[in-house]
Amino acid sequence: MIEDSKTVNFDDLDPEFAQKVMEEMGEDILACFNCGCCTGGCPIVPWEMNMRKIIQKVILGFTEGVLSSKIIWFCTECKVCGERCPQKVKPFEIIIALRHLAIEKGIIPLVYRAMALNLEKSGRVAEISEAVELRRERLNIPEAGLTLPEKVIKELKTILTETSFDRILKEKDYKEEE
Ligand code: SF4
Ligand code: SF4
Repeated sequence: MIEDSKTVNFDDLDPEFAQKVMEEMGEDILACFNCGCCTGGCPIVPWEMNMRKIIQKVILGFTEGVLSSKIIWFCTECKVCGERCPQKVKPFEIIIALRHLAIEKGIIPLVYRAMALNLEKSGRVAEISEAVELRRERLNIPEAGLTLPEKVIKELKTILTETSFDRILKEKDYKEEE
């Protein structure tokens, strides 16, 4: 991948990448002066999340390396990075923009795609199994119901259609992230 290369081929860089990310998130990221305060407070650092590096790669145009990195899916959206940034950059918004751009390129972790398809089908990101219902019964917990009420599913489908969520999920030949 580009990000692991010792030598950078300038032809592989995308000079429009930062602009695309900024348009997607509606915020300026060029104010980042690479201090690392965002990374210092991030709970995902032990899993190799480094927001400072990601922002620099976006600014430099490492499109392919950034969008195909599974790290962008690890962010918990806790927003600590944004609280800490002295430049009022919103790193968590960058992550969301990167996920949008990755999905547009057909890159989405299969587990998230499965969750999205579940949402469309049953109204839940994780389906309730019969085994779960049985356990609830044993514990005297009311039934969760295998699907949500028809009216809720219908409203949900309207939202998914109006936002093009269902079309985006189905039209791409998605691949597992690297
Ligand atoms: S929002 Fe994401 S990137 Fe920012 S601190 Fe939380 S986990 Fe880390
Ligand atoms: S805290 Fe702000 S200025 Fe510092 S590296 Fe992170 S985004 Fe850039």
